[in-house]
Parts: sequence; structure tokens; C-alpha cells
Amino acid sequence: MAMMRQFELVERVKSYDPGADEDAINRAYVFAMKMHGSQKRASGDPYFSHPIEVAGFLTKYRLDCASIITALLHDTIEDTPATQADIERLFGAEIARLVDGVTKLNRIELQSDHAKQAENLRKLVLAMSEDIRVLLVKLADRVHNMRTLHYIAKPEKRRRIALETMEIYAPLAERIGMQEIKMELEDLAFGELHPEARNSIIARLNFLREQGGDLIGRILDELRRTLEEAGIQASISGREKTPFSIWLKMQKKNVGFEQLSDIMAFRVVVGSIEDCYRTLGVIHSKYPMVPDRFKDYISTPKPNGYRSLHTGVFGPERHRIEVQIRSSEMHEVAELGVAAHWKYKAGGSQPARVTDGRQYRWLRELLDILEHASNPEEFLEHTKLEMFQDQVFCFTPKGDLISLPSGATPVDFAYAVHSQVGDTCVGAKVNGRIMPLRTRLNNGDQVEIVTSKAQTPNPTWERFVVTGKARARIRRFIRTQQRAQYVDLGRAILLRAFRAEGYDFTDKAVDGVLKIFKAASVDDLIAMVGEGTLTAREVVATVFPELKTRTQRPGDNVVPIARKPKATAERKDKASAVPIKGLIPGMAVHFAGCCHPLPGDRIVGIVTTGKGVTIHTIDCENLEQYAETPERWLDLSWDEADGNAHLGRIDLVVANEPGTLGSVTTVIAKNMGNITNLKITNRTVEFFELIIDIEVRDVKHLTNIIAALRATPAINSVERARN
Ligand code: MN
Repeated sequence: MAMMRQFELVERVKSYDPGADEDAINRAYVFAMKMHGSQKRASGDPYFSHPIEVAGFLTKYRLDCASIITALLHDTIEDTPATQADIERLFGAEIARLVDGVTKLNRIELQSDHAKQAENLRKLVLAMSEDIRVLLVKLADRVHNMRTLHYIAKPEKRRRIALETMEIYAPLAERIGMQEIKMELEDLAFGELHPEARNSIIARLNFLREQGGDLIGRILDELRRTLEEAGIQASISGREKTPFSIWLKMQKKNVGFEQLSDIMAFRVVVGSIEDCYRTLGVIHSKYPMVPDRFKDYISTPKPNGYRSLHTGVFGPERHRIEVQIRSSEMHEVAELGVAAHWKYKAGGSQPARVTDGRQYRWLRELLDILEHASNPEEFLEHTKLEMFQDQVFCFTPKGDLISLPSGATPVDFAYAVHSQVGDTCVGAKVNGRIMPLRTRLNNGDQVEIVTSKAQTPNPTWERFVVTGKARARIRRFIRTQQRAQYVDLGRAILLRAFRAEGYDFTDKAVDGVLKIFKAASVDDLIAMVGEGTLTAREVVATVFPELKTRTQRPGDNVVPIARKPKATAERKDKASAVPIKGLIPGMAVHFAGCCHPLPGDRIVGIVTTGKGVTIHTIDCENLEQYAETPERWLDLSWDEADGNAHLGRIDLVVANEPGTLGSVTTVIAKNMGNITNLKITNRTVEFFELIIDIEVRDVKHLTNIIAALRATPAINSVERARN
């Protein structure tokens, strides 16, 4: 590959930024070349070809002089003897800061496991929030590394880089409007991750191309003629879609390979917004539309600022094509992304541009999540999800636009409006009708959130929200709430344990032993006891070493009440370990779905050949059918409560009013019940009838929840389900 020469690079930068510091670019070029010396890339090329490619790539996006110099120097701190101090001395503080930002990212990129990848993303967000140019250089670096990925010998390493590109860098490129970069990164990563799929799509494309001759050329000609006849001035271009975007469509639409025909995209660039809609009219009146393919990103732009009209038609020769229509101004933004707004003036004065990343709302939201996530994995989970999804656009009653990832619910909407609105939301009206908070919102929905000061974030919301912001707020709330409970419980346990030895428990008493237990504060230590990770006995024995020789007392460490919800699969495996007396060893055990027996219920087992034992409550109506076969009955009873979660089911009738469902779930959550399913079985003008499945410890726990629900206004009746 021919390397770009020094003067070419300078010429390119000066072509769009006449005030660029030519001398500094030259010095950076020479400095990087000298520093990288005889280092080689995996391809065998001199290492120095890489920073030049990266810098050259960025000139296509008309990036400022500082970004170009940063690109030239981006690997010098990492891979050569050069230091940040050298760079600052030679190129100034701004460049040194930018290079440092990119370097930090490179260092962590070498890690492979999940936690490290998350940490990587965290640092990336922090670095780019300070200056978006760090991200631009990083993306260009990634593009070149992906283009040369096949030179890397180790398959695992190639795969890791490709995955990271697909999951992190491509979505980030899209976020800042770098559409071309996003598509190239995705397609290169796709080639590494699914080579067979990509090859077969390419083979199909080749086949269609051979059959069709210069199909794109013929379609272009006809489109040009059509617009000319309508008196519209336009520049039109056409291309095949990338194999990756075709593959995505095949997955989403469940289209078979043979039906694959929607492979060409055409772009019409016109002078004004009016011309965009006129062009659309001309195309729609000449060619039949493909249903559901029209999108108006002019009236509702994408969050990254992208504007265009998209439509699908059966175009010339009845071929399915996609047409994107935009003005030249929109085209510039679509091509250059964030850099489209940077203006350069002749004469070398500071160009007018905003490089502070915090101007981007999504980046501010990422930062907010970052500050409050308890660990990097949680952060990754929040953000990755969000970046992948398409958007839906909804409106507040005042007509303000809120864009959300698809699948978003009124709770996501509420949090997007304001954290406070999210925390206190009890219900939602979607297009004027009261809808459950878990409803999936659709494009164009008008959403009105009903709030109540008494409401707090509901742990069950976490199951259906899709935005990182909502999830992070809910988790934060649960954490503080759980923590408070652990502290209360821990304090009670310690009080008793200390008293048993004849002492009063005070915060001061444990002050001296915090370090030993690696507790950050007294509350922290108490919470550890409440949580059960530390026993009261250990604390007592450490505070009063002279007691160590005494015998243990049972009951000093009480089982904590708060449990983490367990995955269903895990629980099923444990079913056989459930402590029930009277079982035949080795036999499979199921809990009946009709009566949902709980520890504390009187129970009976029914033996079924090949299925094992099914456990029913003694008053279950279904037992009638076994009345004639007493030999199948097993007399069973519960052992002590086992600490596992069990499924209880309740029937409710509640008033059909805003907020009642919210108060039902809140009451259940406050009583430490974990809702696993909620079904509306009947719905009238006045009432809802619901079935709710709740994970509880035992029958007493469920009875408590039922009692609490009965004490709630707007709930007409609550019964344990019996059928
Ligand atoms: Mn690099």
C-alpha cells in the first residue's frame, strides 16, 4: 500500500482549513516517523504507515489540525520511548491531552475479559466526554486496524477485536453521526465473526449482479430522467447495501435467501427541504411503495442529528430499491457527523467548533450512569443494550419529543423526562388511555405520566425497562433500600449477640475492628452482618478476644430476610433438594401449577409414573381425580423453611383507575415479594381482574403480602389462587 506523503497530508488539511499550522503537522509527521523507527505492523508494513493512514482517513472528515496531529502521534506514547512530557513540550498542552486520551484507551484495549472490556468502555466515555476528538481519532484508528485485521495470526485475538468493534465502536460511530464509519466497521467485524454468512451473501450479490448486468447504472439513468422531467435538480448515486445490513434484514424480517432482492440503495441530494418532499412525491407517484418502509427523519431527526426521507419502492424494472432523499445541507451532516458543524476561517484564528463531549445528551446520560453504576459490568450492560436498539419517538402532552430505544415503556419515558418523574410514576396514559406501565411504546405515542409523591421506584420495573437511565436509577434505589434493611437487621443481630455476652453494642465498640473485616465504616460492618457475609459471632470474638475459647451459641447469626432473586432455571434444579419429609429418595419432585404449595401449607404428594411426585396443597380441587387411587398418595410435610424462593399465586380485583397497578406492585415489593408474572384476566370499565405470581419464602410471607394488599385502597379483593 502506498503511504501518503508528508506534503500530501498537509495539502489535504489546508484544502479545508487554510489556517492550519503547517509547521506543526510537518513536525508531528517527522517525530512519529523517527519514534516508530523500524517497528513493523503485523502486515509487515513499517509501523509508521498506520498513524499516517489514520491521519489521512480523518482528513476525509475535514478534522481540525489538532486532530490530525493527534492521529499522527496517537501510538507514540504507547509504543515508543516518547513521553507525554515530550509531546507537551513539542506540540503544546492541547495535543498532549488528546494523545493521552487515545493512549489510555489503547492500554486497556489489550485486555480480553468482560470486566476489562467494560472498564475500557468506561474510560472511553470519560475520555470522549472531555473532548469528542479523542473518539474521532480512536474510531479512525479502529477502522485502519479492522482493515488490516486479517494479518493478525491468532484467531482469538481477531475475534475479540471484531466483537469489540461490533458492540462498542460501531454503535458509538453511529451515535456521533459517522454513518460511513459505522457501516464499514460493522461489515469488517461481520466478516470476522460470521465469514460463511458473509461469503454466501456476497456470492448471492455477485450472482444477481451477473444476471442483471449494469442494473444500478440503468436504475440511476431512469431515476435521473424521472426527476429531470419533474424539473427537480438533483445529484443521484446508487450502491449495493453492505452484506452486514442485508444479513440484519434477513434476520429481522425472516426473509429467505432466495427472496433476497432488496439490495440496492439510492441517494438523491437536492437543494432544499421543499425539494425533498417534492422528490418524494414524484417517486411515489411513479413507483408503487413497499408498505411500512417510509420514514421521515426530516420532521423527526435521529438523535445523532441525521435527517433524510427514506422510502422503499418497486422501482425501475420492478426492482425493490431503497431511496434516501435529503438536502445538501443534511447530506453534509450525514457524511461528516459531528465534524459537519466545525467551521474553518482563513487566517488561522481559532476555528468555531464545539469539542466538549458533554454537549451530547446521550453522552451526559452515559456519564450519569457511569457515576452511579456499582461496577463496570453493570455499566456495560446498561449502555450496550441501549446503543444497539433502534429508536421510537414519543411525545409529552405539551408536544415535546422524547426519543427512546425501541421496546421502551412508560417508565423509560418517565425517566427520560426527568429522574424525579421516573421515581414517582404510578401510571401512564398512552394516547389518552390508561395503560400498564410495562406497555411497549410505539412511534408517535403521546404519553402522559401520572405521578404520586408517595411512590418510589419499583424493583419489578427493572424487568421491563430498556433504557440504561431507568435501569440504573431503579437499581440505585434498590441498593440503598436493601442496604438500609441490612443495616437495621445487622444492628439487631449485633445488639443481641453483644447482650448475650453481657455488653452493650455501640458503634464505638466495633470502631477498632473495621480494618480487620475490611469494612469502610461502622454501617458497612453492620450491613455485612445483616447481609450474612459476616457473623455476629466473628465480630464479638474479635472485639473481645478473651471470649474466643467459649463455645458457639446457635442463633447468634440469624438468617437475613432479604434474598437476591434467583434465576428460575437454578431454582428448578434445586427442587429435589427442597426439604420435604416423606419423599422417596431419588424421585423427581414438582410443585403443582394449580395450587402453588408453599412451605407452611399442608401438602400431599401424587406419584405419577415417569414424572415423579407432584406436590399439591391438601385442599386442592384437583386431588379429587386421584380419589380412586390411594396407592399414589404420599403423606408429606415440610421440613423447616429452606430459604429458597417459592412461587405463590394470588387473584386480585382492583379499581380501573390511574395508579392502582402501580400501588399493587409497590405494596408487594415493599413486602419483599418478587413479582414473576402479572396477567390481566378481565378488564371492565370499573375493574381489572389480575393474576399475580410472586416469589415468597413461605405461606406466612404470602399471607403478609395479601394482608398488606387488602389494606390498600383501590384494591377490592385479594385471594390466594385456588384452582
Ligand atoms: Mn493505533
